[in-house]
Amino acid sequence: MAVQALHAAPEYQSVNPFSGKPFKSFELTTDAELEAKTAAAQACYETWRHKTYAQRAVIVAKAAELMAAQFETFARLATLEMGKRIDESRGEVKFSADILAYYAKNAERFLAPIKLNPQIGSAHMECSPLGVIYCVEPWNFPYYQLARVAGPQLMAGNVLMVKHAGIVPQCAIAFEKLWTDAGAPAGLYTNLLISHEQSNHLIDDARVKGVALTGSVAAGKSIAARAGANCKPSSMELGGSDAFIVLEDADLDVAVEWAVWGRMYNGGQTCCASKRFIVVEAIADKFFDKFRAALAALKPGDPSDEKTTHGPLSTEAALVQLLEQVNVAVAHGAKVALGGKREDRAGSFMQPTILTDVKPQNPAFRDEFFGPVAMFFRVKTEAEAIALASDSDFGLGGSVFTKDEARGARVASQVETGMMFINNLAWFDTDLPFGGIKYSGYGRELGNMGIQEFVNHKLVRFGKFDVPA
Ligand code: NAP
Repeated sequence: MAVQALHAAPEYQSVNPFSGKPFKSFELTTDAELEAKTAAAQACYETWRHKTYAQRAVIVAKAAELMAAQFETFARLATLEMGKRIDESRGEVKFSADILAYYAKNAERFLAPIKLNPQIGSAHMECSPLGVIYCVEPWNFPYYQLARVAGPQLMAGNVLMVKHAGIVPQCAIAFEKLWTDAGAPAGLYTNLLISHEQSNHLIDDARVKGVALTGSVAAGKSIAARAGANCKPSSMELGGSDAFIVLEDADLDVAVEWAVWGRMYNGGQTCCASKRFIVVEAIADKFFDKFRAALAALKPGDPSDEKTTHGPLSTEAALVQLLEQVNVAVAHGAKVALGGKREDRAGSFMQPTILTDVKPQNPAFRDEFFGPVAMFFRVKTEAEAIALASDSDFGLGGSVFTKDEARGARVASQVETGMMFINNLAWFDTDLPFGGIKYSGYGRELGNMGIQEFVNHKLVRFGKFDVPA
């Protein structure tokens, strides 16, 4: 099958990965427009920072309400631009609306002053916003990623300028319009169609007070370095290669069901997807057979059809890259136990794939496979499973399956990662902080922690003291 033209970043162009057809492209924001938008954001901040939480909540809660009401329109756009299966798109939109509503309701409580107990006098910590926060976001969750920054940061009193991924410009524009529709003042939430070079200039701009990225390690290194050179706070939500540990006492059916979801949800293009399946020998054959059969049964098709169980990857370029990673893995000794090729049909589809025999010297051992490619490992003991799970350059999430919850908790505590799930992969909850360690980045989004990333935690002390001699 002929390989279609690769998408070259950073153009802003909608290409349907199911049909391969480009259907809309957008001009880059000019430097003059960027300057005007930055000035508008700064001006907006000067009034927004002084609003009460209740006043901010009127806008943020309205945006949540509108998003929930228009979920089908938002969902169809995501499916069209990046190929997410329609039910998953609907779920993402509803969850995004929940995140906005959650911060509208809880921000004041999260940022309330905290009383301290000094030896003399009294003191407290209080929170104030920082200013214009610049966010760079990925295409794989075209709304959820935006809601994860918009909900907390706008409620904290910051204003946002956002560069979304080049392949989802219509989702980006729809989310910006949501804020206008919700009655937001000009400059509160600004979508930018900018190049990487313009992005660097914006990070350098004195009006920008913090930078948040969700994306690849390469982007993280570049953007964090730029923020660091400007002494600006940053949060980095990067890639992952999460371990899915199955102990010999696991409920096999539960484990296999989550394994399929964990690897295949969102076409396998999730940072905290299960990517390394680490199974204790005693149960390995049974788990492997069921897992392989379940993956093989998935049917590729139109992602806008509810009956489809396997959608396309986001772009042709993503598919080409994934196929190349599989080739490199095989060249270094890995075996293909299932799939390994593009689907024999139109569209950017990868076969559900299982690789075995991936040894530590194989580049695949440390790679992130951003698509439906599972690496399968057998281990003898729980201790070996923990060691292998931690032997990764990433440290985002992970899971362990065992009928013994205390054992699961013990394993969870020992794996070097930012999040662990026992007998589930349920990372989707507004109240649960999301983020990782090592090359998975730093900082947390969601929950109370997510709103603390870009605020000034100011100490205020009262009391009469003698000036020290
Ligand atoms: P990517 O290439 O890094 O793109 C992500 C965003 O960063 C896009 O908006 C992209 O813009 C922009 N970008 C990339 N390099 C840049 C640079 N030098 N300067 C300014 N902007 C830059 O990531 P991806 O491959 O599309 O997305 C998947 C990655 O994100 C995976 O590694 C995944 O694990 C990670 N991810 C992490 C989380 C998390 O919460 N930890 C969540 C979702 C995804 P252009 O499109 O214009 O290049």
